[in-house]
Amino acid sequence: MSKVYLIGAGPGDPELVTLKAKRLVSEADAVIYDSLIPKELLDEARKDAEMIDVGKRMGREYKLQDEINRIIIETAGKYEKVVRLKGGDPFVFGRGGEEAIALEEADVSYEVIPGVTSAVSVPEHAGIPVTHRKEARSFSVITGHTAAGSGIDYSGYAGIDGTLVFLMGLNNIPAIRDGLIAGGKDPETPAAVVSSGFAINEKTVRGTLADIEEKVKEAALVSPAIIVVGEVTKHDFSGRKTEPARIGVVGTDAFCGRMAKRLEELGADALVKQAVRVRLKIEEEGKEALKKALNYIEDYGFVLFASQNAIDMFFDAADEELIDRRRFAGLKMAVVGGATAKWLRKYGYDADIVPEDYTVECLAKEMADRVGDRKVLAIRAVRGNEILYDVFDQKGVSYDKVMLYDSVGEALMTGDEIACLDWLIFGSGSGVDVFFSEMEKSGIAVPEGVSFACIGEPTAKALAEHGYESSISAQKHTAAELAKLVAERIEK
Ligand code: SAH
Repeated sequence: MSKVYLIGAGPGDPELVTLKAKRLVSEADAVIYDSLIPKELLDEARKDAEMIDVGKRMGREYKLQDEINRIIIETAGKYEKVVRLKGGDPFVFGRGGEEAIALEEADVSYEVIPGVTSAVSVPEHAGIPVTHRKEARSFSVITGHTAAGSGIDYSGYAGIDGTLVFLMGLNNIPAIRDGLIAGGKDPETPAAVVSSGFAINEKTVRGTLADIEEKVKEAALVSPAIIVVGEVTKHDFSGRKTEPARIGVVGTDAFCGRMAKRLEELGADALVKQAVRVRLKIEEEGKEALKKALNYIEDYGFVLFASQNAIDMFFDAADEELIDRRRFAGLKMAVVGGATAKWLRKYGYDADIVPEDYTVECLAKEMADRVGDRKVLAIRAVRGNEILYDVFDQKGVSYDKVMLYDSVGEALMTGDEIACLDWLIFGSGSGVDVFFSEMEKSGIAVPEGVSFACIGEPTAKALAEHGYESSISAQKHTAAELAKLVAERIEK
């Protein structure tokens, strides 16, 4: 018997998701999701789960909702456990009820899992309490969306003396304002608009019912946004004293995770989010070349691992080819830095060469001095720094190169989010290239006035090739050092 779970995924913060939502996503055979669902929650899904994005078609016409209903029922026909993820709470303007009716009509069993609704949590994150002693004894959540041609009369809401919270109303502020004032609401009633709650570009504008529209325009607020009308909007209970620095990180999930964690540990007053995810794609040709080299491994005096991934892929391929590890006895191993050396240790090997500077150039030179007439097997990325081969050629080192993987990018921020950034942090030169090609692909401009931080000189050089100067570059080429430098700079 298949079952569909209609789940509220909260207002966008991956930690404002219920434990139940997280568990069900991790167990699901298929996940059907809207836009604005935190990617971290989607990452919880099984690798083999079918992931269906219905976000882009959401929220326009009824017909499209019909199509979503059809997709849900079709998916339920194929799988046992289907998760339907919706922003906030499913029953707060989420059209969860319509999906429930469709499921009942199709005789599919279902369960609804509540979520943290944006109607309360987004104002709250901006410091606005929807109720407050002596100021607001109630709050009303109202749709601010009018389907084309059918104007809603808002004057009827003017008589409610609690807080008014309008969802989906950003483009409809004049009608809301005029209706409320016509119904008797004082034009001087405090009001606020919170845009992109919990995102890195969250912005709040405060004013009065009369002037809020102008202020929203001035601040160029974007959807999604929530309009709050009432005395409570005068408060700021966010607990923040200063504006946090907005930092976008470009790199692998591992690198971005390390950066965010270190910055938090250092107490940096910052909002940190992955801007572009860099993923490694294995090159089939490179993998074949590696397997071949492994079968003749005694021909090599040295193997060079350019990254932790290169190490994993080397030993995975060795297992696949049933290579007896004793054949590595005479093989010396070189790595590009401390983190890579540590990674190699996991497989039971100490690195023979770790360059003093964690750079490819330094590594190439140290190797050239030590390899003698033995051949080097270099396991690297397609976009690996060419300087390695230049140095080897100059110094007469013989080598085979295996270009095992390439970097591919995936933009995780919208143009509006990128536009608000104070800092961009890069974890590799290939990440820099991937970032600029992703920005070009999505037509997003690099914001003026953003500062750049790079994990090391080669990365800064890659950035310079795109015409930007890095204001920080870590000497030791570690995420920890880079985080420290950025944190110091933010404090100033
Ligand atoms: N079911 C959702 C609401 C869906 S209607 C919930 O319970 O939160 C979509 C509207 O919700 C948007 O137009 C906007 O008004 C509001 N909204 C949702 N998430 C938001 C966010 N992160 N920041 C600001 N507004 C948000």
